[in-house]
Formats: sequence, C-alpha cells, structure tokens
Amino acid sequence: MSILVFIEISEGEIKKSSLEAISYAAGIGGDVTAIAFGEASNDALSAAGKAGATKVLHVADEKYKQGNIQAYASALAAAVESTGAETVVLAKSSLGDPVSARLAIKIGASLATNVTELPDTSNGFTVKRSIYTGKAFANVDLTEGKRIIGIKKNAAIIKEDGADAAVEAFSVSADDADFKVTVTSQEKATGEILLPEADLVVSGGRGLKGPENWGMIEDLAKALGAATGCSKPVSDMDWRPHHEHVGQTGIKVAPTLYIAVGISGAIQHLAGVNSSKFIVVINKDPEAPFFKAADYGIVGDAFEVVPKLTEAIKALNN
Ligand SMILES: Cc1cc2nc3c(=O)[nH]c(=O)nc-3n(C[C@H](O)[C@H](O)[C@H](O)COP(=O)(O)OP(=O)(O)OC[C@H]3O[C@@H](n4cnc5c(N)ncnc54)[C@H](O)[C@@H]3O)c2cc1C
Repeated sequence: MSILVFIEISEGEIKKSSLEAISYAAGIGGDVTAIAFGEASNDALSAAGKAGATKVLHVADEKYKQGNIQAYASALAAAVESTGAETVVLAKSSLGDPVSARLAIKIGASLATNVTELPDTSNGFTVKRSIYTGKAFANVDLTEGKRIIGIKKNAAIIKEDGADAAVEAFSVSADDADFKVTVTSQEKATGEILLPEADLVVSGGRGLKGPENWGMIEDLAKALGAATGCSKPVSDMDWRPHHEHVGQTGIKVAPTLYIAVGISGAIQHLAGVNSSKFIVVINKDPEAPFFKAADYGIVGDAFEVVPKLTEAIKALNN
C-alpha cells in the first residue's frame, strides 16, 4: 500500500505531531512518502525517515510558504496522483483539518479525523475516532477507494529507528485560483515556549486568587521547561493573556504532561486538554471534577504544594 503523509514544518523542523503521523502511517504497513511545504533543510526533512518515511517530497516554492489551505490541498492532490497513494495520513491540527476536508473533495476520498488507533484491516479498513470532545469513540469503516486519516495528537508513538529519508523537490503548477487569500502579516504570541506546541504545560485557574500569585506557576513552569496556560475566567478577568486560555473556546493542547493548578475541571476546560498524555491535578477540593480525568492528583492547597514541587524539581535538575 502506498501512503502519503502531509507533514507540517515549524521553524525549519518537522512538528512532533507530524512525526506521529509518519509513525502511524508506518504502523499501517506499506511504502510511506511524506510531503512538506516551506522552508526546511534537507537534513531536517530527511529526519522523517527515522519515523518511518522512505521519501520526502519538498514543495519549496515561495508561493507555498504561507500555509495557504486551498493551495496545499491542490498540491496534495497532485502528490496523491504522482505517488499513486491510496491512503493519506496527517495530524489533526488547525491546518490539517481544513486541508484534509478540501483534499477529500478534490480526490473523492473518504475522511476520518480525530483517529486514535491503527486501523483494523481484518474486515475492510476500520478506524477508531474520538468524538464528543473525547467523551466517546466511534468505529468508522473507510472501505471504498482512497481514504484520508487525520490522527489525534499523542495517538501514535514516534518511531526513531528508521534510516534517513531521501528528499526530492516536488513542483506543482500553481493555479491562481488557489491563491485568492494572501497572508499579509503574522503576529506570533510571545513567550519562550508556545502553548499549542508545548510538550509540558502548567496551567492555573481561579483557585490562584489573583494575577499577583502567578509567580509560582511561572516558577514551576520554568523549572520544568514548560509553557503556561490558564482557565477561561482567568483570561476573561485579565489575570493572564488570552492566548494562554485553554479549552473548548481557547487553545487545545496535547502535551506529554499537563499540570492543572486550582482549576475545577469543567467540561469546557477538559475539552481542550483531553489529548494530553498525562494529567496531574492540584486542587484543595477532593471532589473537584478534574480528578476524574487525572492520572495523578494532589489534594492540597496550591500555595503550599506548588512551591514544594518546584523546589523538588529544581533539586532534581541540579
Ligand atoms: C460556552 C462556554 C465555553 C467555555 N469555554 C471554556 C474554555 O475554553 N476553557 C475554560 O477553562 N473554561 C471555559 N468555560 C468556563 C467553564 O465552564 C468554567 O467556568 C471554568 O473552566 C472554571 O474555571 P476555574 O476552574 O479556573 O474556576 P472555578 O470553577 O472557580 O474553580 C476553581 C478551582 O480552584 C480550586 N481551588 C481554590 N482555591 C484553591 C487553592 N488554594 N489550592 C488549590 N485549589 C484551589 C477550587 O476547589 C476549584 O476547583 C466555558 C463556559 C462556557 C459556558
């Protein structure tokens, strides 16, 4: 089976979620080709091989550097044709989702997003999808023709035992109709570690009582090398900037570790964190709903627990 994987690049490197997508594709079995857009060195791209790709097609043309959804979908359709891929895999993301929907229309493929497990091919091609913001699962058959699979973050373990992939330039004859929208400028949130991509996140809620107490959240995050997040009321009250607001109406995170301090665990908050690999909850109320979603919980006053935790982590770091 020939599989094409759409990989996203951030600051010249393949994103972690895209390495997961390659590893997932390799787990299906078959010949895995990745396709990347934008600026990246051959060395950075050939690292796709470690995760299981044999080849990387690189669309380096200036026109494709801006994350233009229509143009990406058209280029992917051309790559599907040129590689003969029957299956396309990509990571669920703010770029991957709209690209996959448009690609599905262009190539007449079936599409399943939020996929959490490798397909069951014993009787067709069945994938498990996470639905209702992670509260339930659906098994979906993708049996006819070409198929597109968007995988949930942390759904696959990144393989690291492959050989470097060959990198080939891939040129697409650009259609002007695909470039009707132009990005004129971009403003990135500041902060050492950006929340959407962070592998470790420390988040605070209304239990912190006020913005003057955020120093202890920042200290813990700094000791861990983590990004900081917060619940919605915290950003609504301007205790923290809006780009730190995590949840259904905020940023969806998928770190390896999410530490929630003084956050109750309302469903709207959980909707943004349920792709985290491990969740640690610190709350003084043993009945706080967040404990039901936690892998580890500490019942205690954040003002006592967090500084002790930070000291212990600093001691370990030393
Ligand atoms: C349409 C809609 C969309 C929403 N979207 C989001 C969203 O995207 N993200 C989001 O976060 N919310 C969202 N909300 C709000 C959500 O329903 C909750 O109101 C919010 O998550 C609660 O924030 P919180 O847990 O910080 O505050 P609270 O509910 O006030 O909880 C504070 C917690 O801190 C604990 N606590 C207090 N003092 C201490 C202490 N000293 N030590 C330790 N623990 C302590 C308390 O026991 C409590 O559990 C949305 C709501 C709606 C209606």
